[in-house]
Amino acid sequence: MALPTLTDYPERYDFHFCPRCGTPLATVLLHGMDRRRCPACRWVHFALPNVAATVVIPYQGGIVLVQRDIEPDLGIWHLPIGHAEYGEDPADTALREGEEETGLKLAQPRFLGYTHGPSYGDPRLFYLVFGFSAHVVGGALTGSDEGRNVRVAPLDQMEPLKWTSQQAAVEAFRDLTR
Ligand SMILES: [Zn+2]
Repeated sequence: MALPTLTDYPERYDFHFCPRCGTPLATVLLHGMDRRRCPACRWVHFALPNVAATVVIPYQGGIVLVQRDIEPDLGIWHLPIGHAEYGEDPADTALREGEEETGLKLAQPRFLGYTHGPSYGDPRLFYLVFGFSAHVVGGALTGSDEGRNVRVAPLDQMEPLKWTSQQAAVEAFRDLTR
């Protein structure tokens, strides 16, 4: 499979100056690809995917969905999901995001699988999304501090989720519980 080249990179990776020393970057062939490198301090931009984690939370006979309150896809119902912070294990990301978005207390993350694909917001930006399930050990389904809507959807009759990463997580979870 052909990898994206510099001209395919998302806008956020269109660096012109070295983030370390401010020198204008040069384009050099390095490890088989054109990359941007600082001629002064030798810093190289290696573009990386965004890393996120999503979580399936079985609760009261269904699974927990939250309603998205920002664009793109404003208003859709989805599994709790968020970016992994630097240094954070994706399993901990899944628990943290699940707790922040639902009000529930979670434990025992179980890996379901991962997806790799383009972002819906910018198809030139790739996402690596880790799927987990987790057990509810406390708290209450109150939604986030920011007032996000939450609900429990029956696993057998719920609407298909929009995002591929979440469809995969739900399918893997269904396979485990069959
Ligand atoms: Zn530099």
